[in-house]
Amino acid sequence: MNITRNIQTLKASLPQGVTLIAVSKFHPSSAIREAYEAGHRVFGESRAQELKVKQKELPEDIEWHFIGTLQSNKVKDIAAYIHTIHSIDSLKLLQEVEKQAAKHQRVIRVLLEIHLAQEETKQGMTPAECKALLTDLRWEAYPHVQIAGLMCMATDTDDTTLIRKEFQTLQQLFGELRSTFFPADCSFNELSMGMSHDYPIAIEEGSTMIRVGTRIFGIREY
Ligand SMILES: *Cc1c(COP(=O)(O)O)cnc(C)c1O
Repeated sequence: MNITRNIQTLKASLPQGVTLIAVSKFHPSSAIREAYEAGHRVFGESRAQELKVKQKELPEDIEWHFIGTLQSNKVKDIAAYIHTIHSIDSLKLLQEVEKQAAKHQRVIRVLLEIHLAQEETKQGMTPAECKALLTDLRWEAYPHVQIAGLMCMATDTDDTTLIRKEFQTLQQLFGELRSTFFPADCSFNELSMGMSHDYPIAIEEGSTMIRVGTRIFGIREY
């Protein structure tokens, strides 16, 4: 894998306004360093323990994004430095992020993860659950979190029509939530959707953050 070339080619192909999150999970710090030296600063990890180790080894100006399932009891391990958590799927988790961010006197950006894919195993809230969370939220109790948008994973399929429909559904939900819950707030502005195999479709459907691993770092060994 030529990480430098992969990341430079990919970045050059992205429209303005789309942030590339280089998903480095299961790859060693040396791979991240190569991408860093190619000028990249935004990386995504999906396990708190793995991130903790890498964060200590790597430069301080990396912007770390958490993209995997996050257990409440792990929030404290990443709260000191995490830039954005893409995977908020319950009120309980949001409360814990608020608590830990407050301890560090920081504001942590979060995205609400929406379940649209057909697989049962995918994480996230249904659109109805997400609306209920926002409706019932005591906003004044969350000064240390900034709800910045939505995230989803599309169904893992070759059916690009289905993938596109799921991204369109997320985009519509995003518009609806923004006008209902964030009318004056332009900081609700991120749509995290698109991975190695489907990011071009995601961008066509309004993605502002793509999360790409394999296409940069190669196949992961589990
Ligand atoms: C692993 C992962 C990605 C990246 O997947 P690739 O297919 O390697 O690009 C993106 N988003 C989430 C939530 C992931 O867990």
